[in-house]
Amino acid sequence: MTKIHILHIYPNEMNTYGDRGNLLTLTRRTEWHGLEPVVHYYNVGDKLPKDVDVVLGGGGQDSAQADIQKDILRIGNWLHKLVAADVPMLMVCGTYQLFGNRFVTHDGKEIKGIGIFDADTIGGPKRLIGNTAVETTDFGTLYGFENHSGRTTLLHDQAPLGRVTRGNGNNGEDQTEGARTRNAIGTYLHGPLLPNNPQLADSLIMLALQYRKTAVDLKTIDDSLAATSRQNARNRSY
Ligand code: GLN
Repeated sequence: MTKIHILHIYPNEMNTYGDRGNLLTLTRRTEWHGLEPVVHYYNVGDKLPKDVDVVLGGGGQDSAQADIQKDILRIGNWLHKLVAADVPMLMVCGTYQLFGNRFVTHDGKEIKGIGIFDADTIGGPKRLIGNTAVETTDFGTLYGFENHSGRTTLLHDQAPLGRVTRGNGNNGEDQTEGARTRNAIGTYLHGPLLPNNPQLADSLIMLALQYRKTAVDLKTIDDSLAATSRQNARNRSY
């Protein structure tokens, strides 16, 4: 059976608002598609796994981001190489910010990032909280929930993940949401994101298969519950 190696980085520190649900969804859908998921956890100071086909990272408090800063800078080059090799990645909120150049917290502390996204994040006085809808070219509409103090500005030619049609996205001003470099995706969307957006989960699996140079036809999965949930998100009036 074809194996898909899923790496979840910093599950201890970076796992707010149930972002672990992304791992559960990706693992389950990998099985449903007739593939074998192999889950690796990476925490501060751990040895890096040999096989990685897709990487996930979640949100976290400012203090947790400061706790992982030294370590993420240590493994930054390794992550850059995976991105250059087109390994798919989904980084949410706090980890997204640290995949950018830096996050300056509301109280003025600078936490350095690894620069996979050319983006700077500055903490603001008011948190940006609420339901969010994002139009993307490759993954359709994404529905999620955001809760962050950081305002992210994409620099130079950094591509966003998409454009917000509801909610604040990167900064509440320019309608951009998230960032994309090759197959690495950064986003503010929690929810968790993947259960409500199974098309994104399957895209990550397809990209992981492409990275492995393995051709497998994905199965048709009954996503009627997700479809209902997406319909509800679409109809929500706030
Ligand atoms: N601590 C960061 C912020 O407030 C990230 C928050 C999160 O991951 N939900 O912007």
